[in-house]
Amino acid sequence: MEKKSKDKEAGFETRAVHVGHDYVAGTGAVIPPVYLTSTFEYGNEGGFDYTRSGNPNFRMLQRTLASLETGKHATVFGSGVAAITAVVSTLKSGDMVVAEENIYGCTFRLFAQVFEKFGIEVVYGDLSDTKNFALIEKHRPALVWIESPTNPLLKVLDIQAIADATHASDSVLVVDNTFASSYLQRPLELGADLSLLSTTKYANGHSDALGGAVCTNSDVWQDKMIFAQKALGLQPSPFDTWMIQRGVKTQALRMERHSENALAFARFLEAESNAQMVRYPFLESHPQYEIAKRQMQGGSGIVTADFGLDLESTLSLVESLRYFPKAESLGGIESLCCHPASMTHAAVPKATREAVGITDSLVRFSVGIEKVDDLIADLREGLAKVK
Ligand SMILES: *Cc1c(COP(=O)(O)O)cnc(C)c1O
Repeated sequence: MEKKSKDKEAGFETRAVHVGHDYVAGTGAVIPPVYLTSTFEYGNEGGFDYTRSGNPNFRMLQRTLASLETGKHATVFGSGVAAITAVVSTLKSGDMVVAEENIYGCTFRLFAQVFEKFGIEVVYGDLSDTKNFALIEKHRPALVWIESPTNPLLKVLDIQAIADATHASDSVLVVDNTFASSYLQRPLELGADLSLLSTTKYANGHSDALGGAVCTNSDVWQDKMIFAQKALGLQPSPFDTWMIQRGVKTQALRMERHSENALAFARFLEAESNAQMVRYPFLESHPQYEIAKRQMQGGSGIVTADFGLDLESTLSLVESLRYFPKAESLGGIESLCCHPASMTHAAVPKATREAVGITDSLVRFSVGIEKVDDLIADLREGLAKVK
């Protein structure tokens, strides 16, 4: 107990390795086992009954993630989409959501094709423009839903300012913190009520497991999330949870390298590629550079560029790269590249997509932890081929 009370003062890297670990548990195993059990004997000390409503691996990762997001609670889910489902499932017919217009494609699809059928109305606006905070005041929504940086345009939203506007209208702010990661940005410290993660991405970091989490300081929201985990069947598998727990331990190291590589890669694109637009939160040319510097400890690993090429040349560039397999997802140790218009945002109607800047010539790079010189050389070669 005395040992644990010191955890709050420890650094991120230390908490990532130690918080949530129970070294005692009768065996002294330094790494906790995977609790591959669906059910538990009645009357156990941990209060476990059935894995859908809780498992020792969930509990360990929940403690770790809560600590890393500097929140009181975290609840783990089977994927980021399951975490989003858990939050939105707390609403009722007639409730409104005000959302950033450049949200993750699957969040948009979930609202449009599932929750709108149940009478939940979603209004979109560009929340990087403070004029649009008026939408929050006008609709007084049940939830305000943002991401920062956004996918794939990497707009940076002022979380503190949006939290203030949200609370002035008695609403609840949800921040999808997946792109920044808990290491680089902590939405709860900036006033968010819920910080949501697809732990599939930077938390796990190795592209080999799926998971999601919702972190909060609110006991009421925590009860709702634990209820959703079991009642909606949104729980993860103990094995994936264990994998993510392992990934989280190196998150600080990985995020440092992702950020360093991505900044160098973005600087190369800006200086040498003839791209019409290069976006990276920590480039001085980024429209919200000052906000990014204030609320993030690093720029994270995603770089987006518009090469101004036609669709065919854009796709041939994307397919010519050696170290950037064309794939959805992001946040793993390996670099990936993605053509949002035909991949992650294919579900968004073309007109809506282009209105927010997701053109056919836009490419998103998830910059991994490789040697950045190799990544730059790869792109230089790819660009030479299409020009
Ligand atoms: C990937 C992602 C999700 C969804 O997470 P899954 O684990 O794939 O279900 C949600 N939000 C953002 C920003 C993401 O990148």
